[in-house]
Formats: sequence, C-alpha cells, structure tokens
Amino acid sequence: MDNNKQTGLGRPIRRVVIAGGGTAGWMAAAALARTLGKVIDIKLVESDDIGTVGVGEATIPSLVHFHRLLDIGEQEFMAATQATFKLGISFEGWRARGEDYIHSFGMTGTDHWTAGFQHFWLKGRDRGLASDYGDYCLELVAAQEKRFGHLPNQGINYAYHLDATRYARYLRRFSEHFGAERIEAKIASVDTDPATGHITALVLDSGTRVEGDLFIDCTGFRSLLLGQTMGVPYDDWSQWLFNDTAIAVQTESTGPAVPLTRSMAHDWGWQWRIPLQHRTGNGIVFSSRHVDEATARAALLGNVEGKALTEPRVIRFKPGQRERVWAGNCIGLGLAAGFLEPIESTSIHLIQRGIVRLLQTFPTHGIQQSDVDEFNAQTEDDLRTIRDFIILHYKVTNRHDTPYWHDAATMAVPASLQHRIDLFRDSGRVFREGNELFAENSWVQVMLGQGMTPERWHPSADLMGDDELRGFLDGIRSGVRRTASQLPPHQQYVERYCPAG
Ligand code: FAD
Repeated sequence: MDNNKQTGLGRPIRRVVIAGGGTAGWMAAAALARTLGKVIDIKLVESDDIGTVGVGEATIPSLVHFHRLLDIGEQEFMAATQATFKLGISFEGWRARGEDYIHSFGMTGTDHWTAGFQHFWLKGRDRGLASDYGDYCLELVAAQEKRFGHLPNQGINYAYHLDATRYARYLRRFSEHFGAERIEAKIASVDTDPATGHITALVLDSGTRVEGDLFIDCTGFRSLLLGQTMGVPYDDWSQWLFNDTAIAVQTESTGPAVPLTRSMAHDWGWQWRIPLQHRTGNGIVFSSRHVDEATARAALLGNVEGKALTEPRVIRFKPGQRERVWAGNCIGLGLAAGFLEPIESTSIHLIQRGIVRLLQTFPTHGIQQSDVDEFNAQTEDDLRTIRDFIILHYKVTNRHDTPYWHDAATMAVPASLQHRIDLFRDSGRVFREGNELFAENSWVQVMLGQGMTPERWHPSADLMGDDELRGFLDGIRSGVRRTASQLPPHQQYVERYCPAG
C-alpha cells in the first residue's frame, strides 16, 4: 500500500508518538529521548489497565552495548531491575534425555585465519588430546562454575537477567528525564489520512487525539497500528516452530543465583528458569498440538524451586513476523512486529536493533521510500538468520522419543538452514552471514551441543603434529581454567556490585 501512496512521504518529522509502554515502548522512548530529545517531541501512550506481557527477562550481550550508548550506569540499572549477570544458556535434555550442553557468550579457543578452532579441536578429539569443547571457552567454564567478574578490556562477554516490569519503570524515569512525555490512556482508535494511508493520530478513550508525524507501534501482540491499522500481513512460521503457548510463573529464589538461563526440554516443549536477585522467573513453552494446557501447567509447577509468587499466566502466540516492520509512517517494534520463541533471548535484542536502525535512518526531513526499503530489508536479514538459528535447536537432535521431537527432527527446514547444517556435517565449516547476530562460535557450540559431528576437519589442523596440537589445546584450556578460577562466585559478586539490591 505504502509503495503506491507517495503523498505524505517527505514531510519533516518533528513529533514521534509511541503506542505502548512495555519493554519495546520504553526502550524506544529512552533511546530517542537520549539522542534526539532536544529536536523532536516524543510522546508515549500506555494503559495500566491493559498492562504488559510481563515476561522477557533474559538478554544477550548487545544490551550491555545499548546501555553504554545511552550512558546508563550498570550498577544503578542492575539495582533498579534486580538484575543478575548471564554468561549463556544451559540446554538440558535437548540433544538427548539426560544430556546437557551450554551455549555461552564469548569465543571458544583461538581461530586460525583459514579455519575455526573447532577444526583443531576435532582433530584433537580424534587423537585423544582434547576434552569437552566447552573447556576452551572462558564464559562457558565460568558459567559452569557459577562464577562471574568484570575483566579488563571487556575480557568477559556477558548479558543480564532482569525484571521486565522494573526495567520498563526504570526506562520510563530515564526517558521522562530526557523529555519524553507519558500519557496514561487507552487507545480507542487510530486516525489515518485517506489520501496517503498514513497515521495522523491516536484517538484516546477520552476522545483526545494524539497527533504525530511518525508512529512507533509497541502495542505488543495486538499490533494495533502496524497490523490492525496499516494492515501489514503476518508471516506465520509455525511449520518450523511448533510452540504456540507459554505459561509463566514467578517463584521465590531458593539459592545463589547462577549466571545462566536454564532451558529444560520436556516431551512437548521446554521450560525456562531465570534467576534474578529477588525472585526467579519460570515458564514453560509448548505446542498445543502435542500437549494439553493442564498437563503443561502441571509439569511447570512440578518443576519449579521455591514458592510461587504469582498465579501461572497463559500467553498464546503465533511464531512469525510482519511482512514489513516499517509501513508508511509506522514502525513496529517488539511483539507488535513479530515473535520468535525465547530460546535464545533474541526479542529484546531485535527491539534494540530496530531502535538503532531507526536512529541511523531517522527521517528528520521526511520519510524516503529508500530508507523504508533499507530498514525493511535489513530487518528481514536479521530475522531470517535468527529464525534459522532457532529452528536448528529443534531440527538437530538425537531425540525421537516423543511425537514432538520426532516431528521436529524430521521436518523440512528452510534451504538456508539446511545448507548450513550440510556444510557443517560435511566439513566442520561455518561462515557468519553478513551482519547476522550469531557468530561462528554460537553456531558451532549449538551444532555440536545438539549432537552433530562433522565428518572431517580442515587441513590446517594437520599442519600441527600431535605434540604441537596437545600443547596448543592444553595451553588454551589451562588459561581458561586459571582465569575462571580467579573469578568470585556470581552471587557474591552481584551482592557486592549492587549493594542496594
Ligand atoms: P508488551 O509488553 O505487551 O507491551 C505492550 C504495551 O502496549 C503495554 O504497555 C500496553 O499497555 C500497551 N497497549 C496495548 N494496547 C493498548 C491500547 N489499546 N491502548 C494503550 N496501550 C496499549 N524476550 C527476550 O529478549 N528474552 C526473553 O527471555 C523473552 N522471553 C519471553 C517469553 C515469552 C513467553 C514471551 C511471550 C516473550 C518473551 N520475550 C523475551 C519477548 C519479550 O517479552 C518482548 O519482546 C518484550 O517484553 C517487549 O514486549 P512489548 O513491549 O512489545 O509488548
């Protein structure tokens, strides 16, 4: 539609209206206010009656950078959101019942310019010279040992677990400080210009019109602006991602917080456990085609530690993405734009990517179709590679023990993913595609972790004799062990670092 209606493009953008105040809305408000607050007017409309989705508490390292860009103090942020550090995700029972692995942040070993570390490790393992792949990654060993500490020169790659409700509240204070205006109200309808199809105003239940030049849809699964008003269709990815329901519950903390998100496989889905300073976030994600809600709920409640602090809450979703996230003068962020299940904690990252992209293409002098196209193309690339990485966790598994896992392991996957699986299986090779989020290290950790074994290694590994290879591998492993053992216990570090918490 917006391709054909050029009128309305090119109008200077002075007023930005954000619809919705969950994590997406307040992250957008914070970044816009901090960077452009002096030159644009920012309003955010949210409704306490409707509330937020209330989950989304595990992040990836990009959030650390986002906070640095905004000049958000880490200790203050962590105290305000009762955050803990995260070094990776523990996948329990995904490869096979009773078998676990960790997908951690950071690098494993040292690459040669012709070949990744996995090739040297594969040869070492063949010769009986190498131990677990994870033993060569600092973040992974520290996570296993429940240790954490900041290291000089950003020597440890980490993210956070955070309380989503407190995070939105924290960002609200931050945004208001930099000039964003919050309006508490329900959006009753959305006005558009019949000539251009562009949004002109949000109409509140009081009848007040909130006019703007650019509208950011952060209304969650409702997708009030992008989906309902602009009519952008939804690409449904449920042929690859079967899960369509989650049940979330918060429980008391029962022990020291670990610097890991736990992801525990069930016969028809999986369960998360996210340790915060003041409580634990839990939830179960499942396919309603493969299990009924009551069974999933009982499995969740039977596998939490500590007393429940909230009533279990059911959240239904459809995995997929809006065909375009920027249409006309409306940009969708967060759940309004789409949702991939949270096994790799990518949603908050995608919100952040959308915000940074918007700042990079900000249409001060008017919306240009070329900017819109670039924004949408970059978003599509991001999503496709993340989608493939998530599907990988289901496709590559030795589990065939239930219909759910059997269906996952035998499904046809996108050609782009099948190619990467074939390449790794045949030759141990992995190549990062363009700017994709997950680097080689992540693909290798998950492919090996899920049970793949490449058939050969790169000839560069053969240039080392056994003694040299042993020395190379042992040197990396002992360096990792030494550094990890010098880090304090994670819980102790958090208590010292965030005394207010
Ligand atoms: P919401 O939080 O739903 O906010 C929507 C906002 O719009 C609210 O303020 C609401 O009041 C407002 N609104 C809606 N309609 C109206 C109206 N008519 N009038 C006024 N206001 C309105 N992401 C991660 O990165 N890591 C995770 O671990 C993770 N886990 C998840 C687990 C589950 C089960 C689910 C479903 C999601 C998870 N996510 C995770 C995704 C993450 O929760 C979201 O990306 C994030 O919370 C952003 O949500 P949002 O702001 O888009 O929507």
